[in-house]
Amino acid sequence: LFITLEGGDGAGKSTHSALLEDWLAGLGQTVVRTREPGGTDLGADIRELVLHRKGHMDARAEALLYAADRAHHIATVVRPALERGDIVVQDRYLDSSIAYQGRGRELGADEVRDLSLWASRGLLPDLTVLFDLDPEEGRRRIGATRGTYDRLEAESKDFHDAVRSAFLGLASAEPDRFLVIDATQPRERVAERIRTRVAELLER
Ligand code: C5P
Repeated sequence: LFITLEGGDGAGKSTHSALLEDWLAGLGQTVVRTREPGGTDLGADIRELVLHRKGHMDARAEALLYAADRAHHIATVVRPALERGDIVVQDRYLDSSIAYQGRGRELGADEVRDLSLWASRGLLPDLTVLFDLDPEEGRRRIGATRGTYDRLEAESKDFHDAVRSAFLGLASAEPDRFLVIDATQPRERVAERIRTRVAELLER
C-alpha cells in the first residue's frame, strides 16, 4: 500500500504522517515513512540544493532535480518496501511536482506529470491525502511552530494560490485516489478521517 500526503506548507502533512505511522504500527503493519525531496542520502543533498536555491534557479533545472530525487528514492526505497509488502507513508510525491513546478512555475501539468512518471517508472499512489489550507493560514502556522517564514517568503501569494488550486484540481480529476481534508479541522478529526479511509484500503 502506497500512501502519499500532499498540500501546502504548514497544513499538517508531517504531523499526520507520523500519527498514521504510529496507528498502522499499532495494527502490526510494517511501515516505511519517508518523504520527497530528501528520502535518501542522495535526496538529502538534492533537497539542500533545491531549497537553498529556491526561486534562483531555472524552473526546468528545478523540476529535473526533484525528478532525480524521485527516481533514486522510488527505485531504492519505495519499490523495495512495496515489494516486501510494507506500507509506505510518504510526505509529498508527484502531485507536489505537478502543483509546484507544473502550475506554480508554469511548466505545464502534463509535462511535469510525464517527467515524474518517467522518473518513477509509472508508480502511482493507492491513496493520496490532500491537506487543503489557505496558504496564509499555513504561513501563520509555520511561523508559530518553526519560527521561520523564510522558505515561504521566496514565493508570492499568487504562486501559493495557484499551487493550492492545482492540488484541488488534481483531486477532483482523480476522486478515487484522493482524500481531500479540510486542514482547519481539529487534529483528531483529521486523523480519524485518514484512519477510516486507510482501514477501508486494508480490508480490500
Ligand atoms: O514539505 P517540505 O518541507 O518537504 O517541502 C519543502 C519545500 O519544497 C516546500 O516549501 C515546497 O514549496 C517545495 N517543493 C516544491 N516542489 C516539490 C516539492 C516541494 O517546490 N515538488
